[in-house]
Amino acid sequence: MAYLVIACRSCGTARIAPSTNETATCPQCGTTTPLDEALVHARTDDAETARHAIGQINAKKAGQTYDQEPPPKPSPRDAIDRAIQPAREVTNQRRRAQLAAQGLTDELSTFTQEHWIEALERLDIPKPRALEHLAGLQQANLVTEPTHGSYRHV
Ligand SMILES: [Zn+2]
Repeated sequence: MAYLVIACRSCGTARIAPSTNETATCPQCGTTTPLDEALVHARTDDAETARHAIGQINAKKAGQTYDQEPPPKPSPRDAIDRAIQPAREVTNQRRRAQLAAQGLTDELSTFTQEHWIEALERLDIPKPRALEHLAGLQQANLVTEPTHGSYRHV
């Protein structure tokens, strides 16, 4: 079995984690870190080597602040919010609807009626109007329904 020498993401305390574990909980502050997101300082098959590495890291930490924080994960961005950005720029409701259809197609390739209603509600267009706009866009051949229930702007 391999041992990972990892440092707590929160307080920097080093510890050994068996590589077969999925998470490691910091004995110092209680933060649980998934091992695939942990800062791995060393990987060794020998527990003694791992302990030695931990001693070094923690000694260093005692003398200076720990500055190896991993970069924060990007928060999942909302495709619908991105899709309706251009539509927010215009006030004409028909134009808004068309730009929303275009944005949803750019973001999602095809969109469902639920996406559509959600997007237009965020643009302050209530569901009944949203459905009218969808029908209008289809009549104008600006939106097609390549498979039942999925739409795209063309
Ligand atoms: Zn900690």
